[in-house]
Amino acid sequence: MPTVYDLTFEQLTERLAGWGEPAFRARQIWRQLWQRAAGYEQMSDVSPALRERLADELPLGVELLDERTADRGATRKALLRLGGAHVVEAVLMGYPDRVTVCVSSQVGCAMGCTFCATGQMGLRNNLTAGEIAAQAVWARAEAAKLPATTPQRLTNVVLMGMGEPLANERHVFAALAKLTDPKAFGLGARHLTVSTVGLAPAIERLAAAHPQVGLAVSFHAASDELRDQLVPPNKLWPLARLEAAIQAWRAATRRRPSIEWALIDRVNDMDEQAELLAPIARRLHAHVNLIPLNPTPGYEVVGSSPARIRRFVATLERRGVNVTVRDTRGRGIEAACGQLALSASETADVAPST
Ligand code: SAH
Ligand code: SF4
Repeated sequence: MPTVYDLTFEQLTERLAGWGEPAFRARQIWRQLWQRAAGYEQMSDVSPALRERLADELPLGVELLDERTADRGATRKALLRLGGAHVVEAVLMGYPDRVTVCVSSQVGCAMGCTFCATGQMGLRNNLTAGEIAAQAVWARAEAAKLPATTPQRLTNVVLMGMGEPLANERHVFAALAKLTDPKAFGLGARHLTVSTVGLAPAIERLAAAHPQVGLAVSFHAASDELRDQLVPPNKLWPLARLEAAIQAWRAATRRRPSIEWALIDRVNDMDEQAELLAPIARRLHAHVNLIPLNPTPGYEVVGSSPARIRRFVATLERRGVNVTVRDTRGRGIEAACGQLALSASETADVAPST
């Protein structure tokens, strides 16, 4: 069993009953695991002998291997070993009005976007539902360490870390269920967002399975010719098919999707791309988030200059599109979008599994 967070409440109850524990014990431990984000050693109302047995037989499966902070402690990146084998990064970001954690769904990614450090690693493993949810539990505890200029309480979870969430659909959907279950993590579904490179059929299934969860789609190009190069899955689900899936998602959820766009100097920051993007964004009632490309080791092209970013924004705004330029939070500690990857030493002890 990878982590205790993979168990259902019923499974935990059954295990503890098998050890001769009274029925209330499972409730007591479950609540502390999920809502207090406590480790066994912090459960002072559980006997030391039982804490030891829990740690042996139902391990938490969340080990902090390394942590780096930036922005005076408001950005915190953790290297976590999950389930004893899967090493990933999670990034906690505190703002004046909210605290967001960016969690990973896979170790690496198979989608092959050339400008992304995670894509440059290839796919090593899928995370389990419990391993995905455990990162949010880590963040819930970690939020207390944020500066007082933030709410110091986790308010949002985005699946925008390492990996393509909809390529690990079964585990991701199960993780969303754990995170929104009022008896488990208990976060409102509207405070969760899935970011995808655009796997159209899976977007439609997400709308059916989790209609309250938010959607961000990484476009990066508004013509199939350019998008085929930047985002290889576009060859399977070209822009027209993707747009249809997002329309279906909108119809089912009544929510506004986001379009993500990493601005790459003279690759996708030309007027022509902004002009092609504008009608798509308007038809989708989408909010466009522009991310100046963050540097990664395997891609030599650089992010757009401030002047080119301003021009791209102006072209969109003139055509009535809602657009914001995202900050480059965490760049200095390689915690920004697209920079999450593992060095060889960090993955040396990771054995492949299914
Ligand atoms: N696989 C999902 C979620 C993880 S990537 C997806 O692609 O949406 C999270 C976001 O970071 C995506 O919008 C992705 O396009 C963006 N990104 C990847 N590499 C980047 C880079 N080098 N600079 C800025 N953003 C990047
Ligand atoms: Fe995978 Fe997203 Fe990176 Fe593309 S941008 S390689 S889909 S993690």
